[in-house]
Amino acid sequence: MDQIPDLLARDAHRHGLFRDGGCDHRLRRCQCTRLPRVLRIERNWSLTPISPIVCPHCHTTNRVKAADLASAPDCGSCHKPLFTGTPLALDEAGFDRHIGRSQIPVLVDFWAPWCGPCRMMAPAFEQAAAQLEPRMRLVKVNTEEAQALAARFNIRSIPTLALFRDGKEVARQPGAMRSAAEIAGWAQSNLR
Ligand SMILES: [Zn+2]
Repeated sequence: MDQIPDLLARDAHRHGLFRDGGCDHRLRRCQCTRLPRVLRIERNWSLTPISPIVCPHCHTTNRVKAADLASAPDCGSCHKPLFTGTPLALDEAGFDRHIGRSQIPVLVDFWAPWCGPCRMMAPAFEQAAAQLEPRMRLVKVNTEEAQALAARFNIRSIPTLALFRDGKEVARQPGAMRSAAEIAGWAQSNLR
């Protein structure tokens, strides 16, 4: 099937030339409607990787080409930057939305305003956001306000860093880290 020129692919499909009546999606002009929608809307219908990114401002889920992540993409809905280089403060609803929909890993700092070590770690976490975006989203959850969320994740001490990928927690570290490098190193080592 690889020898069929692109121009013929549509007819080949229509006339059932593909074995089992299926389709070879590698042919760019393939008209098969079984190709997932997210891929079909790509201009050349090639298999371009798409990352769902939740906007930090309006919380709309954007579909961004993986290759475009590094070039400061804007939200298609509110037109603000999808990455700001600073941690994103989230309540419980926002947290569920970002964790559930983001393709990129999410690093969460569970903290509280009355906690001295939390306040000491805050500048390092801020710097880590600038280093790790857009490969990762950095989020702060105030456990004083989002108490149900802290209980759901069984946060026993603060600060606690937790790393999520594909909606699931993959690592957790209680206690303050001293530098952005330490935070970034810990997160990256847990994604390998
Ligand atoms: Zn937006």
